Amino acid sequence: MAGDERELSGHEWRLVLLGPPGAGKGTQAGRLSEILDVPKISTGDMLRQAVEERSPLGRLVERTMAEGRLVDDETMAEIVEERLERPDARDGFILDGYPRTVAQAATLDALLEDMDEELDAVVSLEVPEEVLVERALGRQRTDDTEDVVRERLRVYQDSTAPLVGHYNEESSLRQVDGDQPIERVTEDILDSLRSTEVPA
Ligand code: AMP
Repeated sequence: MAGDERELSGHEWRLVLLGPPGAGKGTQAGRLSEILDVPKISTGDMLRQAVEERSPLGRLVERTMAEGRLVDDETMAEIVEERLERPDARDGFILDGYPRTVAQAATLDALLEDMDEELDAVVSLEVPEEVLVERALGRQRTDDTEDVVRERLRVYQDSTAPLVGHYNEESSLRQVDGDQPIERVTEDILDSLRSTEVPA
C-alpha cells in the first residue's frame, strides 16, 4: 500500500457513492472498501440476497426489483438502519446504492445524527448517458430486458439525480469522471478525499 493510501486509511471514512446504473459504483465501492478499510454497504446486494433466500423481505421486493423500480423508502430505511447499527459499520462505511431518493437522504441524515456521526463526502460518478446505455445493455443480467435497463435510468433521472443538488448544497459533494479506466477513477476518488477536511 502506498504511503498516501495508508494515510487515508487512518480515518474512519463515512462515504456515499452516487451515480446512475452502470456508472461503476459497486466496483469502486469494493476497491475503496479495501483501500480505506471500511465495509462496503450495498443495498442492491442485500436485496438480491434476500430474493435469493426467498425471505419475507425478498418476496416483498422481488417484483419491484425485476421491473427496475425503487423499493419503498420505509422498507429501505429499516434495512439501512439495521445495517448501520452492526458493529462493523461503527468505524466507517461506504454506501453503494443508498440513498436513492431525497427522502432516503433525509433518513440517512437523521440516522447519522442519532449516532452522532456525519458523512465525510458524497462521491458522484459522472458518466455520459450514451455510455451508460451501452454499458448497461452490455452487462444486462440475463432476466433484464432493454425496457428494464431504460426504466432504471429513467428512475435514476427522476428520483436520484436530484440528490446531487441536495449534497452540493451541503458542500460534501465530490464529482468524479467515471468514464475512465477503473484504476484511474479510483485514483481520482482518493484525490478528492485527500482534499476533504476531516477531524484529526
Ligand atoms: P443496485 O444493485 O444498486 O442497482 O440495486 C438493484 C435494485 O435494488 C434497484 O433497481 C432497486 O430495485 C433496488 N434498490 C437498491 N437500493 C435501493 C434503494 N436505496 N432504494 C430503493 N430501491 C433500491
